[in-house]
Amino acid sequence: MVKQGKDKFGIDRDYLKFIKAYTLCQEKADYPFQWLMVEPTNHCNLKCVMCPQAGKITREKGYMEFSLFQKIVDESKDFLKSMQLFHSGEPFLHPRIFDMISAAASKNIYTLINTNGTLLDENKAGAVLDSGLHSISFSFDSFHKETYESVRVGANYEKTLQNMERLLKRKAQKNLKWPKTIIEIVEMLDTRPHIDCFIQQAKNMGFDDVRVWKFHNWTDADEVADQHNPFSINTGSFYPCEYPFFLMAVYWDASVAPCCIDYNGSYPLGNVIESSLQSIWNGSQARQLRGSMRTRMTPKTRLCRDCSFLTVPRSNRSLAGRLFCSYARIIGAFRR
Ligand code: SF4
Repeated sequence: MVKQGKDKFGIDRDYLKFIKAYTLCQEKADYPFQWLMVEPTNHCNLKCVMCPQAGKITREKGYMEFSLFQKIVDESKDFLKSMQLFHSGEPFLHPRIFDMISAAASKNIYTLINTNGTLLDENKAGAVLDSGLHSISFSFDSFHKETYESVRVGANYEKTLQNMERLLKRKAQKNLKWPKTIIEIVEMLDTRPHIDCFIQQAKNMGFDDVRVWKFHNWTDADEVADQHNPFSINTGSFYPCEYPFFLMAVYWDASVAPCCIDYNGSYPLGNVIESSLQSIWNGSQARQLRGSMRTRMTPKTRLCRDCSFLTVPRSNRSLAGRLFCSYARIIGAFRR
């Protein structure tokens, strides 16, 4: 199944438009958003050291109404390629998370979830496999109990490991292709010595992919950055961020933000109850943000100006490599 935007030669016209818009830092996007981050909840059961949940989130906490989620799917189902059911909280805390996954997946939207894995008991593992989910990513960070529990504050190492093993085993027993299973580690002073061992152990367990992320400074969590971050954000380099050119994030309460980094809604793009997603995508705030990527000066906010995504590459890839990989994630839907 192919979403709108692909021609008879298999070339995705929206991809070409995205490349052009990003390259020129065009303010208006003449193509729809390709990726949505949707926040089922911003509650979390952990307080991980590198996460704004450890005292930085000041906006109100809550759970998205299912009717709002359905509105988001209805508005975007004809063109949206990927929906990530995750923003600032643990998605498996939402009582209707499996209904949400199924509602999006049934509209041919590639569905992804990020989880800390602590709540994935026997019943939830079965529901994950039956839901239509395309990708599940575990934020795990270490196969050393002491390091894991010092980074993932509030979690129990053995329990989370058991939850992941159970899901992998049941998926293998059922010989299922989906969901793709991913495990992630954030490179920090605490975890850096264990990265090679982490990758090997994850492969031994049977994960489909292992991802190593650079530490992120969250634009204002400087003391956390100092304590755990092995990188400097003052590299002198500058990479315009591709996020405003292909995605938006919808919070549980219907407000829309530019990306996953804006955990307190410091740069609101609009509200899904008051406006359509498409009008927000090309609203004045979104257009200003895209244009600001030429100069790195985001209007009235330090959100992008102090974001380490602009100075520390998320990986060692070249700009062309970053563009390709960003879009490769978007078109994950075509791997079905
Ligand atoms: S530069 Fe950072 S804060 Fe700005 S849109 Fe990109 S990821 Fe978000």
